[in-house]
Amino acid sequence: MYYTCAGCAVRACSNEEKENLPKNCPMRDRELMDEAFAAYALPENHDFYVTASELEALGYCQWPRLKETIELCLRMGYKRVGLAFCRGLRKEAAVVDSLLRRAGLEVVSVICKTGGIDKTKVGIAPDRKVHPGEFEPMCNPIAQAKLLNAQNTQFNIALGLCVGHDSMFYKYSDALVTTLVAKDRVTGHNPAAAIYCAEGYFKDRIL
Ligand code: SF4
Repeated sequence: MYYTCAGCAVRACSNEEKENLPKNCPMRDRELMDEAFAAYALPENHDFYVTASELEALGYCQWPRLKETIELCLRMGYKRVGLAFCRGLRKEAAVVDSLLRRAGLEVVSVICKTGGIDKTKVGIAPDRKVHPGEFEPMCNPIAQAKLLNAQNTQFNIALGLCVGHDSMFYKYSDALVTTLVAKDRVTGHNPAAAIYCAEGYFKDRIL
C-alpha cells in the first residue's frame, strides 16, 4: 500500500490528535517515523535543521527566499558558500554573488557550461540541440558539484539549474544544497504559475 498524502482530507498530521489515521497513512510506520526523528539529533543535522526551521517564524511573510538563504548562511556561521548557476541567469548570479559578499561570505561560483564540451560528446542527439548544427556546450552539473567540493564550500546554492541537471548537482555535491531559483523559462522562473493555471491558461500545455 503506497502513500497518498497529496489526496488526503484527514490530515491528522497537522493536529495533535493522531486518531482516525487513513489506512495508508505513513504515520502508521512507527519504526520509520522514530528513526527519522532520531536523525534530527545527529550533529550534522541538528543545528542546521533547527536554524532553517526557525527562519520561518523570524521572517514570516517578510523575508523573500533570497533573504532567508543569506540568513541561513550567516546563522550557520558559514564562511565559504558555493553558487552553482545557469548561464541563462548569469546576471542574476552576479547580483546574488554581490549580495552574499556584502553579507560577508566568500562565494565560489561555477557556471553550468563549465568544461565547454559540445552536447554531442556526451551522447545528446545532434537534432536534439536547441540549435542543431552549431556548437552547443552541455550543462555540466557533475563538474559544478565537484569543483565546489574541491574548493571546500560549506553550503551550496543552486540558481536556475535545468530540471534533472539540478538533480545531478544535488547528487554530487558534498555540501548540503538549497535551491534559490528553480528554472522555468516560460514563467519567469516561477514554476508555481503553471500549477496555479493548470486548469486554465496552461491547460493545453502540460498534459
Ligand atoms: S500523514 Fe496521514 S494524515 Fe497526514 S496527510 Fe498523510 S495520510 Fe493524511
